[in-house]
Amino acid sequence: MSLLPEFEYKRPESLEEFLHLLSDYKGDAMILAGGTDLLPRIKMGLKNPDLIIDIKNIDGLSYVKDEGKNVRIGALTIIYEIIKSKIIKDKYPALHEAATLTASENLQQRGTIGGNILQDTRCLYYNKPESWRKSFNPCFKTGGEICNAARGGKKCFAVYCGDLAPALISLGASVCLLGKKGEKEMPLKDIFSGDGKFPFSLSSDELIKNIIIPSDEMRGGYEKLRMRKSIDYPVVNIALSMDAGDKGRLVVGSAGANPLIYDFSSSEELRQIPEKAQNDMSTVNNMYLSPLYRKNMVGVLSDKVIERVLAS
Ligand SMILES: Cc1cc2nc3c(=O)[nH]c(=O)nc-3n(C[C@H](O)[C@H](O)[C@H](O)COP(=O)(O)OP(=O)(O)OC[C@H]3O[C@@H](n4cnc5c(N)ncnc54)[C@H](O)[C@@H]3O)c2cc1C
Repeated sequence: MSLLPEFEYKRPESLEEFLHLLSDYKGDAMILAGGTDLLPRIKMGLKNPDLIIDIKNIDGLSYVKDEGKNVRIGALTIIYEIIKSKIIKDKYPALHEAATLTASENLQQRGTIGGNILQDTRCLYYNKPESWRKSFNPCFKTGGEICNAARGGKKCFAVYCGDLAPALISLGASVCLLGKKGEKEMPLKDIFSGDGKFPFSLSSDELIKNIIIPSDEMRGGYEKLRMRKSIDYPVVNIALSMDAGDKGRLVVGSAGANPLIYDFSSSEELRQIPEKAQNDMSTVNNMYLSPLYRKNMVGVLSDKVIERVLAS
C-alpha cells in the first residue's frame, strides 16, 4: 500500500460549516468519517479527491435514541457503541449480531454506521494496488469499458459487502439525508442504485445525518460467511427480522451491487425464501470463494437463521 497523495483537508465543527464548505468548493470533495474504508482506497489509488471533509468534529451526530415511535442512530455512532447499546440488543437482534460480526474490534472502535452503510463496492480485480491493476485493462469501475471479472459483461459487477445495511433493511430502516436543499428521509433500501460502479443514488453533496428504525421490538438473527473469522468482509450475509405475527423481511447481502430483499407474511412463506434467494444470487467470479459455493451458502445460511429465529 502506497503513501497518501496530497489533498486539501478540512474539519468543520458544525453542520452549517460543513454545508458551506461543500457549496463553496468547485473540485472533487469526499466526506471522511472513521476513514477505515476511504483511506485504504485513496492509498490504493482507487479514489483521488481534491478535498477531504472530515466530519468527526461535528457535535451531535453520535447517539442511539429511543424516541418512542422510532429509534434514531446518529451517523457518526461507531460500531462498538451499537454493539454496546441496550436498546439495540433488546429490540433488534439482527442488527446487534451484524455489528458484533463486523470486521474486528479495532475497526469497530473507529468505523461509523454512516461510513459502514456507504462503503464502496468491492471486486477481486479492483481492490488492489495500482501496480497490480496495471496488468489488466481499466474496468468499468476504473474508467474503462470492460469487466475483468466477467469477460463480455456489459456493466460493473462489484459487490456491496457491508454488514449493517442488510440488517437495517430487514428492520425497515430509513436514512435522514442532509444537503444544500435541506433534510429529506428515504428508505435505506432506496439509496442502492444496483450499479457496482456507482452503488448509491445519493448526490455528492449529501450527508447521512441519522438512521431511523421503527421502534417495534423484533425477533431476528444474522449469519455471515467470511474467510477469516477474526476480521473480514462478508462473502455471504443474511439478515432476518420478523414481528410477533411472523411478518417480516429476509435480506441477503454480498450478492451483487445491492442487497436482495424478500418480504414475507407467515413462517410458511419465509421457509420458501432460501431456495429463491439462492437462485437469485449473482454468479460472477469476483470474490473469494467460488460463485457456486457462495450460491449454495445463501441457502444454507438462510435455512440456519430461519430455524434459529423460529425456535427462539
Ligand atoms: C481490514 C478491514 C476489514 C473490514 N471488514 C469489514 C466487515 O467485516 N464488514 C463491513 O461491513 N465492513 C468492513 N470493513 C469496512 C469498514 O471498516 C467499515 O465498513 C466501517 O464501518 C466504515 O466506516 P468509516 O466511518 O470508517 O467509513 P469511512 O471510510 O470514513 O467512509 C466510507 C464511505 O462513506 C462515506 N461517508 C462516511 N460517513 C458518511 C456520512 N455520514 N454521510 C455521507 N457519506 C459518508 C465516505 O465519504 C466514504 O465514501 C473493513 C475494513 C477493513 C480495512
